[in-house]
Amino acid sequence: MKENYDIAVFQGDGIGPEIMDPTIAILRDLGQASGYKFTFKNCPAGAAHYAQTGDSLPQASMDTARSSDAILLSAMGLPSVRYEDGTEISPQIDLRKALNLFAGVRPVRIFPGQRTPLNMPDGREVDFVLIRESTEGLFHTQGCGEVSENEARETLLITRKTSELLFRFAFNLAQERKQAGRGEGRVTCVDKANVFRAFAFFREIFDLEAAKYPDLKSDHAYVDATALWFVQKPWDFDVLVTENMFGDILSDLGAGLMGGLGVAPSADIGLHHAVFQPCHGSAPDIAGQGIANPFAMILSGAMMLEWLGLRHDHAVMVEDGARLRSATEAVIAKGDVLTGDLGGFATTDEAATAVTAALRAG
Ligand code: ATP
Repeated sequence: MKENYDIAVFQGDGIGPEIMDPTIAILRDLGQASGYKFTFKNCPAGAAHYAQTGDSLPQASMDTARSSDAILLSAMGLPSVRYEDGTEISPQIDLRKALNLFAGVRPVRIFPGQRTPLNMPDGREVDFVLIRESTEGLFHTQGCGEVSENEARETLLITRKTSELLFRFAFNLAQERKQAGRGEGRVTCVDKANVFRAFAFFREIFDLEAAKYPDLKSDHAYVDATALWFVQKPWDFDVLVTENMFGDILSDLGAGLMGGLGVAPSADIGLHHAVFQPCHGSAPDIAGQGIANPFAMILSGAMMLEWLGLRHDHAVMVEDGARLRSATEAVIAKGDVLTGDLGGFATTDEAATAVTAALRAG
């Protein structure tokens, strides 16, 4: 069994290094206790790096990312640093494209004790995963849309090849969740097939893939209705799969249901590589104060353990991922060590230390 894992680390901008440091410490300790070893490799990149060097994603960092077993990324980009055309520096999007990370995985969990703007009926929990296609859709012409004085055009692209990969990924995830007792094995295709031919095409490919998984259920929902049901009955979902822009919007809605960006982890996964990063940005307004919420970064680290463990048939690592998620959720549910974004007064280090203590307490 593989015991040594290289992890490319993009500490990025703003609060990035503040939330990355405690996450790495927790992952290193878990590895030491369970008999596997991580070598964390620092990858300079981001807006501050661009301001210093004129390069936002150096080739050496890209090479390290490509040759590593997984990639951890905190947050990149600063509103004050921009390319000459005025757009923000976002190497995380370049990474997604370069490594073909087509599946953006956004888990949404609401458990007893967690702050949520929803009125949750007693005994209800929410546990679903939104999968956002991350390389095409309405982001296809990102940065090169046509704009003239009186018109602007962007093109939406849906390809059969990427859609098939995406849907297979969604059904395999539903299968894994069903086996782990976390879902009923159902995938919902979220689209706008009643209005756009491109989405009818998307849905048709979904149905063809669904037919290959007779043990799983599949259904469809329009994106507008899905937004409503996210608020009205989010406990009904298991795995949802959708186009890039729809997924971008719905994933922030999902983070809002969980109580905010500070507790929303994510992963961008392809056939050969995966990036694990919190849903939030670099939060420059609170950077350098030691008060950033580390939970979304730590939960992203837990997702990395589960992904690496499944990929390398390392059951202990998968278990460690689940334990780290549960420990973080226990701290959030208990609610006495929370950072300011969650209504508490804890520092980043105090919040991370509470997770370590919860892990030890089992
Ligand atoms: P991006 O465009 O890069 O996603 P953004 O401009 O949408 O970023 P964020 O950087 O995510 O915004 O910050 C949005 C708000 O949420 C800010 O007020 C920020 O301080 C807060 N915030 C984001 N992440 C955290 C965190 N981990 N802990 C505490 N507050 C956070």
